[in-house]
Amino acid sequence: MRVLLVHPAFPITYWGFQHALPIIDKRATLPPLGLITVAAHLPPAAEVRLIDLAVAPLDDAALAWADVVLIGGMRIQAPSMHAIIARARAMRRRTVVGGPAATTAPDEFADADVVFVGEVEGRERELWAAVTGADPQRVPAPATRPPLADARRPRFELLDLTAYASMSVQYSRGCPFRCEFCDVIEIFGRVPRVKAPAQVIDELDALYRLGWRGTVFLVDDNFIGNRREVAALLPALAAWQAAHDRPMALYTEASVDLAGEPALMAGMVAAGFGAVFLGIETPSEAALRGIGKTQNLRRGPAEAVAILARAGLEVMSGFIVGFDSDDAGALAAQRRFLAAAPIPLAMVGLLTALPGTALWKRLAREGRLRAASGGDQYVRPNFAPVMDERALLEGYADLLAEIYAPEAYLARCLAHLALAPIPDTRVRAGGPRIAARALWQLGIAGPRRALFWRLLVAAVRRSPAFTSWAIEKAIQGEHLIRYTQEQVVPRIRAAAAELATEPARLVEPTPRDARVAAH
Ligand code: SF4
Repeated sequence: MRVLLVHPAFPITYWGFQHALPIIDKRATLPPLGLITVAAHLPPAAEVRLIDLAVAPLDDAALAWADVVLIGGMRIQAPSMHAIIARARAMRRRTVVGGPAATTAPDEFADADVVFVGEVEGRERELWAAVTGADPQRVPAPATRPPLADARRPRFELLDLTAYASMSVQYSRGCPFRCEFCDVIEIFGRVPRVKAPAQVIDELDALYRLGWRGTVFLVDDNFIGNRREVAALLPALAAWQAAHDRPMALYTEASVDLAGEPALMAGMVAAGFGAVFLGIETPSEAALRGIGKTQNLRRGPAEAVAILARAGLEVMSGFIVGFDSDDAGALAAQRRFLAAAPIPLAMVGLLTALPGTALWKRLAREGRLRAASGGDQYVRPNFAPVMDERALLEGYADLLAEIYAPEAYLARCLAHLALAPIPDTRVRAGGPRIAARALWQLGIAGPRRALFWRLLVAAVRRSPAFTSWAIEKAIQGEHLIRYTQEQVVPRIRAAAAELATEPARLVEPTPRDARVAAH
């Protein structure tokens, strides 16, 4: 049985860093970890190939080779998923879809032969039945979520490692919190499940044997979701790094209350973590209470970010506008907070109601849903906002234009630099080749030369050990600034202008929306 795994295309996104990838000679930021994990749960009888559309095109010969095509992706990849299904079916190939998009909205993938809902661990027989055609069109998720002791090591050897800026390893799934907009807790639950330290080390060993040295993203929803377990993992990670001359630069996602855990922060730095993504969302207490994100209220976000930066963990963060309590004053507060924040990589999204979330259910009950979100945050919201919609969109565009003006980006980088301890430079990948490219493309030929040199000079003055960091920030900034100026802000302004001629129309919830809202 020949199984073709296809990772669908992404549009340009903030996290895709598409404008930065050519400078570092890569084709994608992260590998399709979900698909290579599924591959590990197929039997030896399956002959497996992988095509990641970010790395290589899907040609007809590959489809002709396959008996079955397995497609997994997120909501933002749904258009590409449907296009792949159509091509595979036109060539009479069996199609199986799974992953987050199919799990949260299986009805939307009726075009596939099989929709595999939920996680794969412990369901090898069901997966094989879906692949071979012995199962019905819908394979529902089991009543309980699998322990990650059942997780097999992803088949990293299927990847072209040279194509990716970073590798991914997953340690845990789930998060104990209950943020209203979050679909993670709907997909993976509120009881964090973790892999044993030996499983994580085994995955790092596999990457090391394949020759990977550099950045590894621990793609957890909340790395510190189970503090007792993560406290046991960190010494094992630190020992592995020390035994291998610290080859991996780690980063992850965690809840803001990490700032109140000095032992965990120190353990993470000792294990080789240099950055952490936090969901700060907003400095507005009213908004945080409204969405149930009370863990962010234990200390102010500015204090939390400073604590983490001083500990050696650069903060990347997500922010949201469009909460029910938001008004012009709340957007102004976001702008003031971000102007002073030591957070170079700040991502601001428009609140989106994702299917199955508590927010989706509430908005459905209130009759405010418009349509399922396609994952695009730069169009009108997929629900009727409380704030005047045009003012919201214009305020959102102004906010993004402001925070990704080159001066503002530089200011946030310098604010981080002022707090950060001198880094360990051994784990920065790329070295002189990437530095030379950045020097030419950004420092000599680029339109933002002043940003490049001011950042580099400030970093070297603080310590030459920050040189690689400064080059990395300049490369990342090139994408963030270009993407914001060339695509995001014009699209949001166009959406705002559209409102003048085409008032928002509420869309009746589908029967499935009504079922969800009733629960
Ligand atoms: S802390 Fe993050 S992962 Fe956890 S529920 Fe909130 S948004 Fe979701």
